[in-house]
Amino acid sequence: MITIEDVIKNAKLNIDARREALIRSAYQTALSAHAGQKRKSGEDYIQHSLHTALNLAKIGMGSKTISAGLLHDVPEDTQVTSEEIEKKFGSEIAKMVDGVTKLGKIKLRGTKEENYLENLRKMFLAMAEDIRVVLIKLADRLHNMETLESLPPEKQERIARETLEVFAPIANRLGIGEVKVRLEDLAFKFLDKENYQYVSEILAEEKEEMKKYIDIMIADIRKELTKEKITVLDIYGRSKHFYSLFQKLKKHDMNIDKIYDLAGIRIIVPEIVNCYETLGIVHKKYRPLVGRIKDYISLPKPNGYQSIHTTIFGPAGNFLEIQIRTKQMHDEAEFGIAAHWIYSEKKKGFRNFFFREKAKVPEKEIAWVKQLREWQNELGKDDKELIESLKIDFFKNHIFAFTPQGDIIDLPEESTPIDFAYKVHSEIGHRAMSARVNGKMVPLDYKIKNGEVIEIITSRDHKNPSRGWLNFVKTSAAKSHIKKFMKKEGMI
Ligand code: MN
Repeated sequence: MITIEDVIKNAKLNIDARREALIRSAYQTALSAHAGQKRKSGEDYIQHSLHTALNLAKIGMGSKTISAGLLHDVPEDTQVTSEEIEKKFGSEIAKMVDGVTKLGKIKLRGTKEENYLENLRKMFLAMAEDIRVVLIKLADRLHNMETLESLPPEKQERIARETLEVFAPIANRLGIGEVKVRLEDLAFKFLDKENYQYVSEILAEEKEEMKKYIDIMIADIRKELTKEKITVLDIYGRSKHFYSLFQKLKKHDMNIDKIYDLAGIRIIVPEIVNCYETLGIVHKKYRPLVGRIKDYISLPKPNGYQSIHTTIFGPAGNFLEIQIRTKQMHDEAEFGIAAHWIYSEKKKGFRNFFFREKAKVPEKEIAWVKQLREWQNELGKDDKELIESLKIDFFKNHIFAFTPQGDIIDLPEESTPIDFAYKVHSEIGHRAMSARVNGKMVPLDYKIKNGEVIEIITSRDHKNPSRGWLNFVKTSAAKSHIKKFMKKEGMI
């Protein structure tokens, strides 16, 4: 059982009296609206509203989103209407609550696949409207998963599968690692009891075994870093999450000896330069495993994740993964898009910081949301095509390529120089003649790899998209530009 005090205590930033009053008032409205209602677990319904709000507070959301989280099931499940919410709390909060209600109304028709796609479509459209709606939905789903035990088995199965296939990938794409792993582990538990049990035994055994080394190593590393005058903001042992360990095991024929990051140590330092200094100090003390040093600071993962990873030989000859990152990288890895809000507002100083909920989604994210909206406009009439292209562009693993000027271009895997060209600008796509990758000429259907520098050689005189390009381009943007051009020119 939690109370509204837990929610307020966990709000990441100091909230002023007015904001606190807003949260308390939303709580009072939810409390009286849900009075007498029980969850399947037997708990008072308000516990679900409180847990949803608490999850939002924990990832750093502001008072309006927390309030909408408290109210999220009110119009759907009680006598209080959405108009009353708007009158009392304003249109911004009412719109968020409506958005969550709409997301919840999933038509159960057709095949499983269709339901899944319908779900996806709704999430995407909601994201294009207001990302906070999706964050509330994730917070809501997290608590539903935590109480899934009290539902009948067939419902458990359906909800767990949907969580794994729809909600966890979205949490991942939004960079909320903390929510993603909790959703995955809970879903795993319900979908595959046997393997869940197996993995949890491995981890428990390993934990026992590693604990003694890890404590000694932490003390040693801390001592070395202090000697080199590097501030250690935090250092702690960590073990792999259930579902991600299972995925890795499957890749390696269930051979546990092939898994090098079962356990590890995470080091949080103040500045980026400290991360590299720390890496040097760690490698001086422990021998690194060749080919296992990953610098996600200079080359972030597609969802923005940054850290340095290295696998070393521990004191007893065992492997350990060491992760090194700054505090900001750490918060962004745990809280994702919510952390972007916090940091972009902190930079602007007190005034904006105080009124941070006025803040818009940061630039990088806006570009992404804008693109969703464009696709929606372009392809809106044909849902199937929209969903197909979204599935490819959104969920497929992304890679980063660079322009010769060093700008980062985010593309789905297996993208070609033509995709790259259209992503930079449609004119560059239309005028593309040939391409160089890291200085070498490549064919236009070359598959770009992460981190490559792509130079597009264009024709000054004419545009020349060809029908053949349609056979190999990966992105829906490139496809639609080429088709549009050919239509205009009467080629199709
Ligand atoms: Mn709910």
